[in-house]
Amino acid sequence: MGIFDLMNRREHEQVVFCSDPAVGLKAIIAIHNTTLGPALGGTRMWAYDSEEEALQDVLRLSRGMTYKAAAAGLNLGGGKAVIIGDPKTMKTETLFRSFGRFVEGLGGRYITAEDVGTSVKDMEWVRYETNYVTGIDEALGGGGDPSPVTALGTFYGIKAAAKKRWGNENLAGKTVAIQGVGHVGYYLAKDLHEAGANLIVTDIDENRVKRVVDEFSAKAVGKDEIYEADAEIFAPCALGGIINNDTIPKFKFEIIAGAANNQLKNEEVHGEVLRKQDILYAPDYVINAGGLINVANEIEGYHRERALTQAKGIYDILLKVFDIAEEQGTPTYQASNHLAEQRIKKVGHLKEIYTRQWQQHPCVQ
Ligand code: NAD
Repeated sequence: MGIFDLMNRREHEQVVFCSDPAVGLKAIIAIHNTTLGPALGGTRMWAYDSEEEALQDVLRLSRGMTYKAAAAGLNLGGGKAVIIGDPKTMKTETLFRSFGRFVEGLGGRYITAEDVGTSVKDMEWVRYETNYVTGIDEALGGGGDPSPVTALGTFYGIKAAAKKRWGNENLAGKTVAIQGVGHVGYYLAKDLHEAGANLIVTDIDENRVKRVVDEFSAKAVGKDEIYEADAEIFAPCALGGIINNDTIPKFKFEIIAGAANNQLKNEEVHGEVLRKQDILYAPDYVINAGGLINVANEIEGYHRERALTQAKGIYDILLKVFDIAEEQGTPTYQASNHLAEQRIKKVGHLKEIYTRQWQQHPCVQ
């Protein structure tokens, strides 16, 4: 399939190929949709097997960012960048500065941030060349580690799911199974423990497990036992694809609400299976939007309290998603897509009206 066909298939606005052989830079920036605002999305550095694979990835990820920003109520569009190369061996100041110049060349249509394979330090190099970068260190006016904000948004998302499921958001006495107690999982465990929930946890890193067992009286289980844990709520905070044909039959959970990306192995298939089994699923990109909210706040001048308040707003957004799903009889992931699409459509329509009115204004005729 040709590049324009690929772009048209998912309605991408712009794809930019960036090449600077002198510094070894091969990058692709994809801008999916800027109806709501500039396209924001991180820069992933990965040793892709082919350029085709890198292109497919950046097109998929940038579209996902459009939905995530729209559902979170942010005035941002969706974009993403990929740098083709091994992040362990190929990172240099000149490579990231060169990439920064390409970002600057887009004049603010695309704003970058760190992602898989890139770090806050890399973004500081990018920042030498452009201001269109977020996710930078607190010392430079950035928001620092987004994980506590993501965890807080996830915690409020779990409360919203409890409210929908049991008519009461109180988590005291409920049991939550957390898969992965890393950056987000640790802070989520803390919030849940303080709310009086019982915790069952797993992680492949024993030290991380020990920390939450010691600090929050969590019960540790093996990495495959987590799927059959005796818990009302499952919070995946490690890997994607963990809701699948092998794991679903083991679930005793009534709610699945966690921060991990791409939890449904196959959206259409497993989203529908969860619906039919009456397991309430909080769509991942909605409940884990705290990280995006955190970096989006940097654009207007970072303010921690504002970011935390906005992350708590995930509660209301999820209640809306659950209601749409109920009204339309659809899986919740479809309901969140619907919410995002409707917002983009309405704002796009407003823009069309303004443009038309402006074109008819006497001073431009
Ligand atoms: P992290 O790497 O700090 O934590 C992930 C944890 O999962 C690690 O402790 C790791 O050892 C553990 N893990 C890996 N494989 C496992 C397995 N098979 N079973 C159990 N545990 C396993 O990452 P994080 O920043 O906490 O992010 C967690 C998830 O949330 C990821 O999917 C990430 O994409 C998503 N997310 C994170 C943020 C953020 O702000 N950090 C924002 C949005 C989404």
